[in-house]
Amino acid sequence: MEVERSNRERSTRGDNNRFSRLGFAAISACTYVAGCAPAANDTAQTSDPVANAQTLAQIIEPFDKDAIVGEPSIVPCTLSGGTEAQCLSITLKPEPAAFKIGPWCPRNIADGPELSGIWLDDGKVYDADGKFIQNLSRFYDDDRWQLFDPETGKINVTDTEASCQAAARPDDDPAYQNHCVECQIDYLPADQFQTYVIPLSPVQVASVEPRVGHDGVGIAYSGVRLDASAPLDAILDAHTLAPFDDCGGHVNPNVGYHIHAVTDCLKSVPTTASHAPKLGLALDGYPILARLNLDGKEPEGLDQCRGHASDGLGYHYHAGATGSNAILGCHKAETGCVLTSATQTCDASQTVRRGPPGGGRPPRPDG
Ligand SMILES: [Zn+2]
Ligand SMILES: [Zn+2]
Repeated sequence: MEVERSNRERSTRGDNNRFSRLGFAAISACTYVAGCAPAANDTAQTSDPVANAQTLAQIIEPFDKDAIVGEPSIVPCTLSGGTEAQCLSITLKPEPAAFKIGPWCPRNIADGPELSGIWLDDGKVYDADGKFIQNLSRFYDDDRWQLFDPETGKINVTDTEASCQAAARPDDDPAYQNHCVECQIDYLPADQFQTYVIPLSPVQVASVEPRVGHDGVGIAYSGVRLDASAPLDAILDAHTLAPFDDCGGHVNPNVGYHIHAVTDCLKSVPTTASHAPKLGLALDGYPILARLNLDGKEPEGLDQCRGHASDGLGYHYHAGATGSNAILGCHKAETGCVLTSATQTCDASQTVRRGPPGGGRPPRPDG
């Protein structure tokens, strides 16, 4: 672990995502996210119900069935660029079925990496263990960091539902500065799921928005949400850490467990004899593959979104490095929706979903 670092430049942190230290962002169930590119899946929708059923079966096949709620289906949808399309609708549980989540925050500066998660900084992965937390003021060259009691070594952790909620609220609550922030999955109601509506065939758009929107990157075959970059600067700005577990994920009270960094925890599905395996599906319908090909090298010539087309695989993305805090840089095609109920209709061309009257945009932490 590299703890010794000097004079780190953090001057731009202040203007970045002041929404909250945990990066609460609006659940724009159908947020506009622009992207563009050629089609990867040979699964163009048709009006033939038999063909559609086959297409659906093919897309669903690699997913961990234990993570799915109800039956996936094909639904009409309006994509982010306004294209009317046919989409996969799949509802996922808020935690993976195949692996155990956590731990995140150590409780004492004596706690080792087995009782702690990880932290990402400047492209590197660090154990967010007691020693790391003890050294934060040196690591970030800022003596306002003091997450632990110097007498006992006890670390300030948001270890109740109320404190997790408070620490993640859009208005900065000074009481939770200098805390290690974590939320438990059982704070979520048992019936709280997310429904992902993803085009069966990607639809290229003209200009790529150089970021991933609040609805995130996509979904993994393990049944977990692959999220946009965590707002690390906003988190650090409040002198908090919101560690990820060793699988790169953590919990927020609105979407549940979600991943900001791809690790080998995710289920992978072989592709070709040399190419990286598939890990999941982006919100624009393109497949997401592991970062490295089977020769251990990252493919050359990836575009700004970390995608390329290759023989037999069409266009697809390769996930970013674990430490990069960016699973993808952007979407190349029009994205679908993330909905809070399978009965909602996806219109991703609206920045605010046309929901029931009075339906606002509930905040959620993205950190
Ligand atoms: Zn590739
Ligand atoms: Zn997060």
